[in-house]
Amino acid sequence: MIVVMEPGASRESVEAVEMRIRAAGLDVHRSRGVERTLVGAIGDERILEPGCFESMPGVERAVRVVRPYRLVSREWHPGTTVVDVGGAAIGGREVQVIAGPCSVETDGQMAEAADAVARGGARLMRGGAFKPRTSPYAFQGHGIEGLRMLGRAAARHGLPVVTELMDVRMLDTFLAEGVDAIQIGTRNMQNFDLLKAVGRVDVPVVLKRGMSATIAEWLMAAEYVAAGGNHRIVLCERGIRTHETAYRNVLDVTAIPYVKRESHLPVIVDPSHAGGKAWMVEALACAAVAAGADGLLIEVHPCPREAWCDADQALAPDAFGSLMARLAAVAAAVGRVLAPAPEARTPARIAGETALPA
Ligand code: PEP
Ligand code: MN
Repeated sequence: MIVVMEPGASRESVEAVEMRIRAAGLDVHRSRGVERTLVGAIGDERILEPGCFESMPGVERAVRVVRPYRLVSREWHPGTTVVDVGGAAIGGREVQVIAGPCSVETDGQMAEAADAVARGGARLMRGGAFKPRTSPYAFQGHGIEGLRMLGRAAARHGLPVVTELMDVRMLDTFLAEGVDAIQIGTRNMQNFDLLKAVGRVDVPVVLKRGMSATIAEWLMAAEYVAAGGNHRIVLCERGIRTHETAYRNVLDVTAIPYVKRESHLPVIVDPSHAGGKAWMVEALACAAVAAGADGLLIEVHPCPREAWCDADQALAPDAFGSLMARLAAVAAAVGRVLAPAPEARTPARIAGETALPA
């Protein structure tokens, strides 16, 4: 951290800043210029708060030099992390698709959805059993029974499941039900107790970006999970709120290359919640893969107009199938391969896969 003193700051105020830095166990480097003095804190500056210095007499501002997050940064781990979710690798050369309905409704709906997901070639299945709804009168999800329906449907095709955890008290149930990846939704990205709790377990976490979160806040949320010991984190960009009202959210495509440079964690994209309309999903999904996304989270429903939640944005099975075909071409164009579900794999497809250039 560098503390910039005001022009003409007294010797006492410079010394008070230096004392405070030393009291925190860091060393001091003073640099006296023609107009002002700079005081550098040498050591792990993450324990220092700029605001503590900015409220001191004679201080103009305090600026961090290093990133506030460490474990999730590429600076800390220059390699690229691959997260295994029930046998599907996220972050490698394969682009993984997680698909399924917004909410788990009935066994019949889930069985049809699972068939569509597997037929389309997705490798993982999603479905919400605990739903974060804006209105308390809207369908809130089937809860534990919903988890079981999701598990039964996905088991038809051996698909690992991804589902949202909202309440820390349900974590043990998620583990007992064998959830393969825990989704933390946009509304809970800064629920720090929830982040700490999932940081203590050995189950992958799909961490969605808060709808108004900066990238630094998103990575700090991931740091909470990593700090607890769980490094199996997949970041998910799902669109952010801006002044634009024409569509549900703005997909921040820029975040994809930025976060992949800043962090070693895999980054996936949810085009469904970004655009909020089924007809936008294909364009946004293609853009995401072209920009380097490691996977996609897509809402698919056997009959979208009858969906109990997010009906406007769900893809029907046919539309999902054609989207997957286009995605395979986009993935190939950027040196990736769309990972097919085990039953969709044929020897010809496997033989056609090529490794990413090193
Ligand atoms: C969801 O995936 O169904 C969901 C509620 O997503 P988000 O948290 O991004 O709104
Ligand atoms: Mn949804």
